[in-house]
Amino acid sequence: MNAAIPFNALDRQHDDVLSAEIADAVNRVVRSGWYVLGEEVAAFEREFAAYCGVDHAIGVGNGSDALEIAITALDLPPGARIAVAPNASMYATLAIVANGCEPAFVDVDPESATMDPAALDDAIADGVDAIVVTHLYGRLAAIETIVARADSRGIPVIEDCAQAHGATRGGKRAGAFGSLACFSFYPTKNLGALGDGGAVVARDATLAERVRRLRQYGWATKYDIALAHGRNSRLDELQAAILRRKLPRLDAWNRRRREIARRYREGISHAAIATPALRGDDDIAHLYVVRSSARDRLREHLAACGVRTDVHYPIPDHRQRVFGGRFDALKLPAAEALAASALSLPCFPELRDDEVDAVVDACNRWRP
Ligand SMILES: *Cc1c(COP(=O)(O)O)cnc(C)c1O
Repeated sequence: MNAAIPFNALDRQHDDVLSAEIADAVNRVVRSGWYVLGEEVAAFEREFAAYCGVDHAIGVGNGSDALEIAITALDLPPGARIAVAPNASMYATLAIVANGCEPAFVDVDPESATMDPAALDDAIADGVDAIVVTHLYGRLAAIETIVARADSRGIPVIEDCAQAHGATRGGKRAGAFGSLACFSFYPTKNLGALGDGGAVVARDATLAERVRRLRQYGWATKYDIALAHGRNSRLDELQAAILRRKLPRLDAWNRRRREIARRYREGISHAAIATPALRGDDDIAHLYVVRSSARDRLREHLAACGVRTDVHYPIPDHRQRVFGGRFDALKLPAAEALAASALSLPCFPELRDDEVDAVVDACNRWRP
């Protein structure tokens, strides 16, 4: 095999045209003399809210802050229980714990790897005060079912859309289903900045206003602190200007990711590698995750073929060392099986067809 096939290659995304547009945008910000919460952030917030089909977007420092602030904005009682799936590398769980709340882990559906509504029913029966739903790997979860059950009991739902920018079902985009929704613009996400960035989007004006205050010290107006637990987490003008140049390309990038997923699904035929079923616009293929009971050996084989892979994610939240064994008795079989078998193949818009074919070929040549 020739050159190694990278897992991500962000330099390829920034071709001559996009690089020139970004350089121009950056220059204008540099010369404007205004670098934090200015016109670029306001314009990006309007454009991103419109893209998601909601009224409000609030730029913040990163996706983890978006989750933490969204939970704070719900103003839950201390020790509140928040339902969360345990297979998204602790992002939401860390935000729950940081707010002094308790994670109520809910197993995932083995096929979709997203929160299992039936398992959520059990958690609701035990009592939950809020729900965080992660649209993992770029796939919308069973969000309509979950929101319907939550709404009937007055339980707020936060969507974690950090892997699902632009995923659409029934004419609604990721972020338009829940009470609040959180996005990350980390460079490898489907919409990525050139550094950290994030956003919270909201349909409701009151919640949006709370998030807006919480991202900046809890200010109602300058130096007038109206809300407790405020902090400083702002999207800066440079990243907002860059994101505005990229947003118009997001749908085309997502289409290309889906096309790569289709090529993998049609090309990989190996008894010991399970490929995910093809889905529609509700899956923007942030990650292409296959499963194998001999995952580590498959990974070694692919590495020997020059194919870079990754594991999303190797440790379920309830097995993380940081909990000191608190959840040792808890069994979440689907999430645990996934952690032991999932392997992510290269999947990014600039991956070439010949590279996809080489990955397919390397998979099919594996002798476990
Ligand atoms: C990346 C990611 C986050 C965290 O975003 P950061 O900007 O890296 O803090 C949260 N949730 C999910 C599902 C993610 O993939």
